[in-house]
Amino acid sequence: MSNTYRFTDEVNKSFDRAAAFVDASPELLEQVKRCNSVYYIAFPLRREDGSLEVIEAWRVEHSHHRTPTKGGIRFSSTVNADEVMALAALMTYKCAVVNVPFGGAKGGVKINPKNYTAGELERITRRFTFELWKKAFIGPGIDVPAPDMGTGPREMAWVADTYNQLAAAELNSNACVTGKPVTQGGIAGRNEATGRGVFYGLVEACNIPEDMKRLGLTTGIDGKRFVVQGLGNVGFHAAKFLIEAGAVLVGVSEIRGGIANPKGIDLDALMTHRQEAGTVLGYDRAKELPSSIAALELDCDLLIPAALENQITPENAPRIKAKIIGEGANGPTTDAADQLLRERGVLVIPDVFLNAGGVTVSYFEWLKNLHHVAFGRMEKRFDQGAYRRLLKAVEASTGKQFSIKEMDFFARGADEVDLVNSGLEETMCLAYRQIRQTQERLGGRVDLRTAAMVESIDKVVVAYEELGLFP
Ligand code: NAD
Repeated sequence: MSNTYRFTDEVNKSFDRAAAFVDASPELLEQVKRCNSVYYIAFPLRREDGSLEVIEAWRVEHSHHRTPTKGGIRFSSTVNADEVMALAALMTYKCAVVNVPFGGAKGGVKINPKNYTAGELERITRRFTFELWKKAFIGPGIDVPAPDMGTGPREMAWVADTYNQLAAAELNSNACVTGKPVTQGGIAGRNEATGRGVFYGLVEACNIPEDMKRLGLTTGIDGKRFVVQGLGNVGFHAAKFLIEAGAVLVGVSEIRGGIANPKGIDLDALMTHRQEAGTVLGYDRAKELPSSIAALELDCDLLIPAALENQITPENAPRIKAKIIGEGANGPTTDAADQLLRERGVLVIPDVFLNAGGVTVSYFEWLKNLHHVAFGRMEKRFDQGAYRRLLKAVEASTGKQFSIKEMDFFARGADEVDLVNSGLEETMCLAYRQIRQTQERLGGRVDLRTAAMVESIDKVVVAYEELGLFP
């Protein structure tokens, strides 16, 4: 399905729709829209069986209006220049929506990571990092990669280690990549950040009474029936936090098939089954669907595509029953499908906002690496002491005695993960309110995606004007 659509065309259509509401010259808008740098790489890999293979890879920096640029590295057998360019553009708009001061970038390596040994993946990742370094496409102030589909903390540790060897004299070299393991300069909470951000964004959206009333739904997450496509980093964590808040998982679409149970699916049991069987199929407490994509059409309140782009198209959009679509993946809905869903009154919460939790916490990790100190280290004890003194004063004035358990609970100082989650929640809530305000400023004529894009483009335009390039 992904091949039928050019991903950059899809992203640019939503850009053009939003640009019509932005007060800027056509030349400046063209500059904002274009990818600033596209780097194609091909390098040889000696496989463990002795054979040789040529690996293709890309790094695209979409916008240098703010530096460093930022965006994940995707390992996928279908990745291509068009896909990486579209994803890099989405990163620019996403960073602007959540007020992260970076330009957008993305990387792609054309491999199916499942077909390579850990040793081969390490050599591919290190060689890719070296190629980026050779052309100044990586560095704490230049371009800072992160995980995306097919990559995670392990790959980011290889990127950091390679860069640190090449740039040993750079004091801030560890800020060259985010999403690292916590033991290697990463930040607590980064691994689940995108899924957690999806959750916070959905909580905010579901708490607006007039929006829920229009959809015929009650406010809040509790009791909402949802379907997720892709139980990877984003999909799994989003599902986990939604279930913890009382939502009911009624369907799952995974790469090799889909399953459904209107009474609810136990996520932990399903993950254990998938770990053992290698697929969600065969899980005995749900029925199997005729195809993986069929899960998107299940009866539910909320659909979370969290796998690939171009999954909701004009072909299946009319059959989608969800009233809310929360885009965990990048570009899961084609432009034409988006219009069909809008006409039917479906609330589409767009990728440029909803999956921005990853880049937000990546920004916190980058700041931590520049500060060379973990968040909370300086103030945790001090805060605990201050809260204790306050509680003692309350005890003295009221005669009430707090138990040890109560005292520990109320007087707790914030750990790094508490501060990260708090910063993430604040970022997502504020961004959603700003998008809704923009929507209202435009007289309710536009959907959330267009409102989010208007806001992004406005911010990038202002940055360009500040640079004095387009007076
Ligand atoms: P991942 O590799 O961890 O997980 C992807 C999951 O999707 C896997 O479980 C895979 O089996 C499944 N999948 C693949 N093809 C499928 C198909 N055709 N049908 C159903 N399931 C399929 O990837 P991820 O990091 O969770 O990324 C998922 C999406 O979220 C991508 O669009 C990515 O760009 C976007 N995203 C990721 C992050 C992040 O921090 N990881 C941040 C922002 C956006």
